[in-house]
Amino acid sequence: MSTSAKGGVLVYAEHENGVIHPVSFELLGKGREIADRLGVELWSVLLGHRVKRQAEELVYYGADRVFLYDHPTLEVFDVVRYKHVLVKLVRETEPLVFLVGATPLGRSLAPRVAAALNTGLTADCIDLQVDKDGELIQIRPAFTGNILAHIKTRSRPIMATVRYRVMKAPKRDTSRRGVVVEKRPGEALETGLRFLGKVSARRVNLADADVIVAGGRGLKRKEDLKLLEELASLLGGVLGVSRPLVDEGWISKDYQVGFSGNTVKPRLYVACGISGSPQHLAGMRGSDVIVAINIDPSAPIFRVADYGVVGDLYEVVPKLIEALKRIKGGSVDG
Ligand SMILES: Cc1cc2nc3c(=O)[nH]c(=O)nc-3n(C[C@H](O)[C@H](O)[C@H](O)COP(=O)(O)OP(=O)(O)OC[C@H]3O[C@@H](n4cnc5c(N)ncnc54)[C@H](O)[C@@H]3O)c2cc1C
Repeated sequence: MSTSAKGGVLVYAEHENGVIHPVSFELLGKGREIADRLGVELWSVLLGHRVKRQAEELVYYGADRVFLYDHPTLEVFDVVRYKHVLVKLVRETEPLVFLVGATPLGRSLAPRVAAALNTGLTADCIDLQVDKDGELIQIRPAFTGNILAHIKTRSRPIMATVRYRVMKAPKRDTSRRGVVVEKRPGEALETGLRFLGKVSARRVNLADADVIVAGGRGLKRKEDLKLLEELASLLGGVLGVSRPLVDEGWISKDYQVGFSGNTVKPRLYVACGISGSPQHLAGMRGSDVIVAINIDPSAPIFRVADYGVVGDLYEVVPKLIEALKRIKGGSVDG
């Protein structure tokens, strides 16, 4: 493999304090597929300080070549500085495709890079395919999730952000070999941004939860969320909600599942008093097992549910809680 290259598929490797965000591995998996179809190399780019070891990880997950910018001036994420470095790299290496995770960081970085390069950006993709003519098709929900738009981009590089947990990460393979190209970020220009510290951390990480018990407008009062929280905790999971409860101000948006909230993929998703609008389904239909509790047998949620309970959540959920407590307490009769 040569030390210089042009025209690969480039994946931005996001990390926090050296911990690579799993969306980057998912993108490497999809990027591998695209690169193989196009007959080009798969690249990744990593910016930070003391992150050399992580560059190897990217190779284990499929990168043929990692452009590594390891420098004290890149220790803290400064969107303007990072943009400058990425724009320079893209101009030098001319990737065909540049993929970034649709995380809060990626959503801030990718549009700036695209604008500086005067290229298009398809945001929030849920799938990427290469068609028979070798063109990249970027698939994303449109019209509030009612249709899936298939988008081709004329400008180069083709840039897209891709949602977390919609693609499968490849298996880590430590026998893989690739090239790590150490790069210098260039002069650190004053960007006018100063990192003052983190003021709040997210209270819940829905995207990584194994079990989610979610409540919708079937709940009568904010206080009743506690009922679902209790069920979630007995199942070793977390609470989620449909958007109206966030709009009502009952709970923060961190808990929202759906098109304009979190995409989740738990092993178990229990939807309580949720009708199953396309916007809600867009965020949870990838769950392994879906259980729906709803008084209306014609609710659309039952069409995606593996198990459905037609009933009042105020009767069904307390019974479930009781049964789980009994099982946990050691008595399994009844
Ligand atoms: C641009 C846009 C983005 C959106 N993004 C999202 C999003 O990210 N996430 C999201 O969730 N929504 C989103 N929405 C809103 C979405 O269209 C729906 O309005 C919303 O999902 C409905 O929430 P719900 O199912 O809780 O409420 P409803 O549709 O009102 O359903 C309530 C359900 O509860 C049942 N029910 C009532 N009482 C009981 C009871 N006692 N026991 C059991 N069942 C009961 C009813 O039969 C009904 O099916 C978005 C909308 C737009 C326009």
